[in-house]
Amino acid sequence: MTKSKPVGVLALQGGYAAHESSLRRLGLDVILVRYAADLDTIGGLVFPGGESTTHLKIISREGLRGPLDRFARSGAPILTTCAGTILAARTVSDPEQDSFGWLDIDVSRNAWGRQVHSFEAFADGTDIPLTFIRAPRITRVGPDVSTLLTFEGEPIMVQQGAITAATFHPELGSDIRIHQQLFGGDIDA
Ligand code: GLN
Repeated sequence: MTKSKPVGVLALQGGYAAHESSLRRLGLDVILVRYAADLDTIGGLVFPGGESTTHLKIISREGLRGPLDRFARSGAPILTTCAGTILAARTVSDPEQDSFGWLDIDVSRNAWGRQVHSFEAFADGTDIPLTFIRAPRITRVGPDVSTLLTFEGEPIMVQQGAITAATFHPELGSDIRIHQQLFGGDIDA
């Protein structure tokens, strides 16, 4: 990503403030994205968790769908988490809803939540902490999508091109390695 440009955090709804503070802890400049013009000023974007249905409504009301699509296709790094991942997926079930298709994955909403409302764990074979909050399950991963992290053998963080999608919340807690890996900055900033 272009180092001179700040990282944008989509700030329409949901858990954007914790992403903002994770990025600031890395010494990065952050812009809260609310309008299409904000997308012209950033070098990367975080699409936070929250409620995907509400996100869809606000994105459509604010005319952000086209500008977000263009940004996603620009090759700039994007991190989507939870509801953001639901909207970035190709198809969404339980219930079905519209999505942007930035990644060739299918997701099922609230699928972890049916067993346990919210929980914490570690990604398989790593010390990466995971917080799941009514998280979606990735039910299909397309051939051009790489699985970066799994939990109990299931994909929970995947990447296609410059877009990385997590079903958990890397912005909660003190671990900022995922933000650093994607957007740069300094862990000890
Ligand atoms: N369950 C929410 C949805 O379907 C996502 C939850 C979250 O982002 N933490 O949109």
